[in-house]
Amino acid sequence: MPKGFNVLFVSSEVYPYSKTGGLADISNSLPQALNSIGNEVRILTPKYGQLDERRLQIHEIKRMKDLSIEFNKKKHKFSIKSSFIHGKNTKAQIYLLENNDFFKNKGIYQNIRTKKDFPNNDERYMFFCKTVLDVLEVLHWKPDIIHCNDWQTGLIPAYIKTLYKDHPLISDIKTIFTIHNLAYQGNFAKSSFNKTGLPSEAFSDETGMLNGKFSFLKAGLAYADKISTVSEKYALEIRTDKNYSCGMEKLLTKRKNDLVGILNGIDYNVWNPNFDKLIPYRYTNQEIPLKYENKRELLNKYKFEYSEDIPLIGMITRLVDQKGFDLIVESFDELMNENIQMIILGAGEEKYQKFLLKMKKKYPKKLIVHIGYDEELAHMIEAGSDIFLMPSKYEPCGLNQMYSLMYGTVPVVRNTGGLSDTVNDYKKKDGNGFLFENYDSKDMMKAIKLALKIYLTDKNKWYDLIRNGMSHDFSWKASAKKYTALYKNIVASRK
Ligand code: ADP
Repeated sequence: MPKGFNVLFVSSEVYPYSKTGGLADISNSLPQALNSIGNEVRILTPKYGQLDERRLQIHEIKRMKDLSIEFNKKKHKFSIKSSFIHGKNTKAQIYLLENNDFFKNKGIYQNIRTKKDFPNNDERYMFFCKTVLDVLEVLHWKPDIIHCNDWQTGLIPAYIKTLYKDHPLISDIKTIFTIHNLAYQGNFAKSSFNKTGLPSEAFSDETGMLNGKFSFLKAGLAYADKISTVSEKYALEIRTDKNYSCGMEKLLTKRKNDLVGILNGIDYNVWNPNFDKLIPYRYTNQEIPLKYENKRELLNKYKFEYSEDIPLIGMITRLVDQKGFDLIVESFDELMNENIQMIILGAGEEKYQKFLLKMKKKYPKKLIVHIGYDEELAHMIEAGSDIFLMPSKYEPCGLNQMYSLMYGTVPVVRNTGGLSDTVNDYKKKDGNGFLFENYDSKDMMKAIKLALKIYLTDKNKWYDLIRNGMSHDFSWKASAKKYTALYKNIVASRK
């Protein structure tokens, strides 16, 4: 195996320690995939108040206990604890930052109790970014690269290039900043910048300022040595289309040569219908009829009728504008007019939760709604549905359409971002799903009706679509190789 790179992978969510979305899954799988091809990747993340140390096998590291750091003119105590994430033949070490001033409460970005964003999220992640660097002095392990993810880690590149630019240990460490979603920017009041301890020249329209606010994300994009995002199409969209660039077009155009798109993979240890412990009937692409046994079980659970002639449409999603919910609301009655059943698992904005619960009352025989977060049900929906709907306004990569393809659940998606890079139009030889172009409920309904028609009238074609999806390689292998090439490129620039 070729000698790889030492990489500190910094993320605010890592499954199974914390998760609000895809970032957590990726922060678990990508480091392991990178390790399996010869890199040494270690993860660093906050230890949030809700984490159960015993269940998650989190241990103390004696020499990293009760350390202290000066941040925003005060001394703060912290400890670094350790644990491991495992796959079948892969693993990665994870460090967890414990601190009572910022990460003691239960919740990741929101307080679990009040369901409101923590009012000091700026300080929480400033402290996190600063501490990541100070930890390196006591870690006795030096990364070649710090791989930063999303706004919560945006200040790390800025600190390295300014406050730490002459630091004997840190100054030559390179950074990659991966955008998992450009719309979440960590923008705070201008005054917030003063708490960072960064020199004032780090704070300009070219670097940390966005429309009069101090932006963690912009700082990351300005100071990182390389920028990546999670699909090629999204990399293009955020640079060239104002509907996607969220105010960053100028900066991203300037950094065009440093921006690449690398598609996420999926974790086959968790998402594979042949081994999935959370579904009653496991199956391969040679055993598609078993998929229908899962459908029967899923419908049974809710006392719904099972029929081969009634297609079941599934959705698993955050209930937010990004995921296309205004289109769903607009066309819901028309959708329910079709001879279908539908199951929606999601949590998020109150208005959409209310809407879905209202629709559940209106269509009690057709619609199953589960508000909340439920890993097991998510697996059952992927295995039991015929069609998966994902009409996103934008989609950096998207995981659920890939899970759906793996599980033989044919996706109907909008032609954007990672959906575009993974779903092939049904008409093509390697077709595996249905795409619609414009963000428009009529276009969405047209695509859904087409899928329903083929499901009901052309079983051979439908099975082809299923098999094409199930036989595609969505493993992390290819992406891990691309990230390693990027690491190589960036480390070479150091010499
Ligand atoms: P995003 O990160 O934008 O939410 P992705 O498709 O990249 O979208 O990833 C979403 C991840 O979160 C998937 O693993 C999906 O199964 C999971 N997920 C989202 N909502 C729920 C839910 N309500 N219950 C269980 N899993 C969910």
